[in-house]
Amino acid sequence: MKKSILNVAIPTPVKSLFDYSVNSESKIKPQIGQRIQVPFGNKKRLGFIHDISSSSKVSKSKLKPFLEIIDEAPIVDSETRELIKWCSNYYHYPIGSVYSTAVPKYLRDLKYPNNIEHKAFMGVAEERKILTKAQKKALKESEKYLKNNNVLLLNGITGSGKTEIYMRLIEKELELGRQALFLVPEIGLTPQTANVLTARFGDLVNIIHSGTSPKTRAAVWVAAQKGLAQLVVGTRSAVFTPFSSLGIIVVDEEHDQSYKQQNGLMYSARDLAVVKAKKLKAKLILGSATPSFESFFNVKNKKYNTVEINKRVFSTPLPENKIIDLRLHPITKGLTKPLIKDITKQLGKNKQVLIYLNRRGYAPLTMCEDCGHIEDCPRCDTSLVLHKKINLLKCHHCAYQKTQPPLCSECGCNNVIVGKGTQQLEEGLRDQFPNEEILRIDRDTTRSQKKRELAMELAHSGEAKILIGTQMLTKGHDFPNLSMVAIINADQGLFGSDFRSSELFAQHYLQASGRSGRRNERGLVVVQTHNPNHPLLKKIINNNYKSFFDDSIKERINHLWPPFYGAALLRAEATNKTKVFEFLSKISRFGETLKNQKTLLLGPVSSPIERKLGKHRGQILLLNKNRKKLHSTLNQVILFIEKNDINKGVRWIIDVDPIDMS
Ligand code: ADP
Ligand code: ZN
Repeated sequence: MKKSILNVAIPTPVKSLFDYSVNSESKIKPQIGQRIQVPFGNKKRLGFIHDISSSSKVSKSKLKPFLEIIDEAPIVDSETRELIKWCSNYYHYPIGSVYSTAVPKYLRDLKYPNNIEHKAFMGVAEERKILTKAQKKALKESEKYLKNNNVLLLNGITGSGKTEIYMRLIEKELELGRQALFLVPEIGLTPQTANVLTARFGDLVNIIHSGTSPKTRAAVWVAAQKGLAQLVVGTRSAVFTPFSSLGIIVVDEEHDQSYKQQNGLMYSARDLAVVKAKKLKAKLILGSATPSFESFFNVKNKKYNTVEINKRVFSTPLPENKIIDLRLHPITKGLTKPLIKDITKQLGKNKQVLIYLNRRGYAPLTMCEDCGHIEDCPRCDTSLVLHKKINLLKCHHCAYQKTQPPLCSECGCNNVIVGKGTQQLEEGLRDQFPNEEILRIDRDTTRSQKKRELAMELAHSGEAKILIGTQMLTKGHDFPNLSMVAIINADQGLFGSDFRSSELFAQHYLQASGRSGRRNERGLVVVQTHNPNHPLLKKIINNNYKSFFDDSIKERINHLWPPFYGAALLRAEATNKTKVFEFLSKISRFGETLKNQKTLLLGPVSSPIERKLGKHRGQILLLNKNRKKLHSTLNQVILFIEKNDINKGVRWIIDVDPIDMS
C-alpha cells in the first residue's frame, strides 16, 4: 500500500499525533522530519511530520490535506525524532509538546538561519597541560572503557583536574572529524567552562544557554546537524541538539539537580544524554566529585564503568574540617562566636571566605536541644515536618502524622524548632563585619545576566571578601584566594524531610568544601551542627563519599526508595482542597485494582508546600522496582483519568524520576 498519511506532531496538550492527507497541489514532496502547516480547528498550525503511514484511524472523508510544507529537506533527523518519541513515552508527555521543548523557537516560528559558517578543528589553540600521574592513569582507563561505548562515570575529587581529561577525550574525537557535546548544569557555570574550552579549542566552541538569542540557538542546531559545528557547549536543553557524527558527550557535574527540568516536560538532560549516546553510538562520560546515587547504583549493578581520581592536581591536601557544636555555642543570626573568630582570622590574612547557606528545604523540624534527636517517620526514615498551627508532625511522603511531643522522645529534654534564622545570616555578617565587602549570590541577586556576571567577577577577583551563597556558588567554581568555607547549619541537611536530603547535603558539603584552599594553603571547612557525632557527617567530613553511598544505599533499599525503586510523582492542584483529594483518592482506589503490577502508591498526601499561587496541592508517589511495570501503571492511570473525566477543575501532572517533592 502507498504511504500517504502524514502523522503530524502539533504542540497541543493532546498526546497523539494528528493525521493529514497529502495536498496534491504541494510542490514539495512530504518527508519525515519537515515542518509543515496544517489546518487545525479553524486555525493554521505548525507541525512536524513525525511519521508517514499507509492508513489512518480517521475516516478518509474526514481527513484534511495539509496546507504547506516549509522545508525542502527534513530539519529533524531520525535520531532526534527517536529521542523525542522516547521522551514522550518515558515522561508521559504529549509528543507535539516535546517537539516544542526540543526544537529551537526560531525554527518553530517558521524561520531558518542562513549563512551558517563551517568551522573545522585545526588543532588546539593553547598548549595542553602536562598531565599529572593520576590524570594520566585516569585518561588511559577512561579510553579503555569508552572504546566499547559503555557509559563511563568519572569520579574525581574536587580539584583533581577532570576538565583536562574531558578536553583530551574531546580532542581525540575532533581530530577524527567527529563532534562533541559538553553539558554543564547551570548558566552561572557556562562562562567559566566556556572560557576554559575556548582557550583550548578556540572559536570551535558554540555555546548555548538560556541567554543565547533564538537565532544563534537555531544556527547552532542547524550547523551541528549538518556537521558544520564540531563542539557544542550548553545547559540542559542542548541535549536535544542534533549531530551528524557525534563522537562524545560529556556531562559535567552529573549529580547536579539543574539537569532536571522542573516544569513542562520534566526531563533529565543527564538521563537523555545516556539515551542519546546509545542511539548515536557516541561515547558518554558522566563526571563528578560527588556522583548521584543513580549513577553510583548503575556502577554497582555493572551498567556503568567507573574511573576514580583521588588526587588533586595541586598537592594541597583536602581541607581541614572543624565542627562547632551548637549544643555548646549559642547562635545569633546564624553565627556562633567560634565561627566569627575563624572568619576574622582568614580576613586578617587577606583571604576570602564562603558562607554556605542551604536555602532549600526551609521546612521546620522538631529537634531535641540536648541530644540533637530529630523526630522521624517510622515508614520512610525521613524527618517529620512541623505544621505549627495544628501542632502536628507530618511525613511529606506517606501521610503518617502525630502530635508534636513537647519533649524529646529519646532523652526527655526540651524540643526546639530548627530551620529558622538563615535569612538573618546576611544581616548577622553585616553586623559583625561592617567594613568588609559582603556579597550574597543566589537566584534572587543574580536574575539578569549582567548582574550575574558582575557578581561572579567580584567573587572571582577576590574583591568581595565574604561570599554568602547557595549551592549556585559552590558548584564547580575555582576561587583562587578562597581559604575557608562555613556550613551554617548541617542539621537540616542531615535530617531533611525528603529521602534525598542527606545525598544532597553530602554533595553540597563536598562541593562547597572543594572550593577552599585549591591553590597553596590548605583550606578550612567549619560546620555548625547539633549532631557532631552523626555517623553520616563523619563519613562526609572524612571525604568518604563512596562509603557514605554504600551505607545510605542500604537505607534506600530497605525503604524501597530510588534508585532501588523507580519513582513517579502524580501531583494535583485545584482551588478547592476537597477536589484535590477526591481526585487523588479515586486514583489511589484505581491503583488498588492494578495489584498484579506491584506498584506502590504512597498517599494521597498534601504536598510539602500545601498552597502555591492560591492553589491547594496534593500528591501520590508511585514506586516500583520494575520500571516497565511502573510505566505500565502510569499509562493505565492516565487512561483512567482521561476516560472517566475525573479531573474537572483539577490540574494534574506526572513527574517521572522526581527530585523535587515539595
Ligand atoms: P575538577 O573539575 O576536577 O574539580 P579542574 O578541572 O577544575 O578540577 O582543575 C582544577 C585546576 O587545576 C584548574 O585550575 C585547572 O586548570 C588545573 N589543572 C588541571 N590539570 C592540570 C595539570 N595537569 N597541570 C596543571 N594544572 C592543571
Ligand atoms: Zn512517611
